[in-house]
Amino acid sequence: MPERKIAVASGKGGTGKTTVAVNLFEYIRSFDPRPVQLIDCDVEEPNTGVFINAGELIDEQTVAVKVPVINKNKCLYCGKCAEFCAYNAIIFVKSVPYIQVMPDLCHGCGACTYACDVNGAITERDNPMGKVFHYRLDDQSTRIEGQLDVGKPFAVPVIRQVKKTADPNKLCIIDAPPGTSCPVIETIHDVDYVILVTEPTPFGFSDLKLMVETVRQTEVPFGVVINRSGLGNREVYDYLDWENIQLLAEIPFDRAIADAYAGGKMLVHEVDGIKAVMKQIWEQGIGILNHK
Ligand code: SF4
Ligand code: SF4
Repeated sequence: MPERKIAVASGKGGTGKTTVAVNLFEYIRSFDPRPVQLIDCDVEEPNTGVFINAGELIDEQTVAVKVPVINKNKCLYCGKCAEFCAYNAIIFVKSVPYIQVMPDLCHGCGACTYACDVNGAITERDNPMGKVFHYRLDDQSTRIEGQLDVGKPFAVPVIRQVKKTADPNKLCIIDAPPGTSCPVIETIHDVDYVILVTEPTPFGFSDLKLMVETVRQTEVPFGVVINRSGLGNREVYDYLDWENIQLLAEIPFDRAIADAYAGGKMLVHEVDGIKAVMKQIWEQGIGILNHK
């Protein structure tokens, strides 16, 4: 039976998104007998492995995008493929004539191959984008991590493959990429619940508003965790009240938390009170799902 997928997201990096994801995962592992997976979709900078014992690597996959290769001996220079390309990844100049594929602009959608009527004028090759690593932590827990290759432009195919690799019958805690663009939409559009992490500062408030708009487009239920509470002002709290958004929990601005984080340690093991915060996040978020 399909299990729930919970994503932890934030509008910008550095708000504590990964901290919440890994500590929630660790908290669930501590009491729940069900298998649970930690899914790192922050493929440009995956760092869940800094906090969680890396475990045993059990699978490694390369993620590639299919880009067209034009056979200039067969091409009739009609330009149809370039017309069909919504991403301007094919340069075509009829008067020369000249045709060239720009691999780093190509999304691998296949429209150009579909458009070409000339047999053999277009073939395809793999353009590697990144890798997906699957680690076994113990009998019940796994961690799946996507990594975008340095300089590669498209995170979405890697994120898609990370999610495909996950077992749908196991509970998933997903560390989403920061931001509000395609990578985060790809990560959260089909999950059961999104935990948004913010901080009570003007930057945190501004990013939270953008993130709330993004999540609302997906229609996935969500709640908010305020990290470093005690900093800044009340704007975030007033906004949550006004928008009727659930505040799941607060993580205080605290020296012990900062020290544990800087040392790559798990807060649930190192800092008093954090286990109770994770319990609250879990019960509030899952409590909402259970009543749906
Ligand atoms: S559609 Fe085919 S024949 Fe026409 S320019 Fe493109 S590759 Fe060449
Ligand atoms: S595969 Fe899609 S994005 Fe790539 S060149 Fe062809 S039409 Fe353009």
